Amino acid sequence: MSRRCLFGLWLLVAACEGDARPRPDQALVDSVREVAAPSASQREPAQLTRIDVYSAGGEDAAGARVVLLFQGAPLFHQQQLPPQGILPQRIAIELEDTDWGDSVPVSQSVGRGGLRRVRLATPNPRVVLDLEPGATGRVFYLTDPYRIVVDVSATTRQSEKRRPLVVLDPGHGGREPGAANDEYSLVESRLALMLAELTADRLRAIMPRARVMLTRSDDVDLSLEERCALANTMEADVFVSIHFNASSEPVSKGGVTTFVLDTNNDRQALRLAARENGTRTSEVTGIQSFLAKYHRKGQASGSMTLAGKIQRHTLQRGRAVLPKLADRGVRKAMFYVLVGARMPAVLLEASFLTYEPEARALTTRAYRKALADGVASGIASYLHAR
Ligand SMILES: [Zn+2]
Repeated sequence: MSRRCLFGLWLLVAACEGDARPRPDQALVDSVREVAAPSASQREPAQLTRIDVYSAGGEDAAGARVVLLFQGAPLFHQQQLPPQGILPQRIAIELEDTDWGDSVPVSQSVGRGGLRRVRLATPNPRVVLDLEPGATGRVFYLTDPYRIVVDVSATTRQSEKRRPLVVLDPGHGGREPGAANDEYSLVESRLALMLAELTADRLRAIMPRARVMLTRSDDVDLSLEERCALANTMEADVFVSIHFNASSEPVSKGGVTTFVLDTNNDRQALRLAARENGTRTSEVTGIQSFLAKYHRKGQASGSMTLAGKIQRHTLQRGRAVLPKLADRGVRKAMFYVLVGARMPAVLLEASFLTYEPEARALTTRAYRKALADGVASGIASYLHAR
């Protein structure tokens, strides 16, 4: 797991906090923004290995995110190009000393979120984003792995802005399966995705006006900072990261917990935070004061209200299947995935994978569906009461 050092953490915060909403004059007029020059011994050509495109899914998506992944540190600068002949306005990422892999598509049609198309162009190796009229974009850079992220914002129409957007984040995925219970063949990343999908279905049914988006729809790697920045980029109204709890020691009760971000020092919460963050407890403790200043008080009360409703509704529905499902309450912990979120944001530990009655129940669709109905109902209740 990466993001173990302060520098990595700074990038995370920069991605979620500093870069998420640039001042208007900062968006694309900076013509040059180069990577810190690698030392001479590291100067090998970088390779563009993948281009990932994320957006809210529908044609009315408020934005899209393009992530260029590299092996090796790329040198680049960005340009905003006005419409020219048949060409629309564009963002060009000019790459120096960079190859691209055969599997990178020459052109990807997108057609939503203000982004028409992503394509590779010459003579310089460059990646061009063709935008819709009025769309804007901004570019930032992350390491480990090296990637250039371009956030595109469509021109937002008032009617669209008023439809609430819920971002559900199935925890882990790809090389990080999260917790597991081998006896019941339970893997946290898979369960979290199932629960998120069921929650999305339910939410769309009970609140048709709401737009619902998942940070991942497959078993893929997704960094903590991308999950958060995605919600910020899309101007989400609610962010819920979905997880399942586990303990290396035998537990006499399982239960449901909903977390909001805090910088407190509770030992148990720290241990859980370390597991979800992929770091050691001591590292979480060490960065608390560093992160404390990024805690946004304005968003904290909304998060508490949202957490209370999700906790109550999830317990209530879960208990229809498991009457003794324990209430571990709403708590605070240092979860990186919540850092920098601009909207009410919570992390749900929906049950215990290592508590036998809950593990057994989680193998049934009835219990998963009950939990999903509870999460959806809690979110809907929060949105209705705003
Ligand atoms: Zn987890």
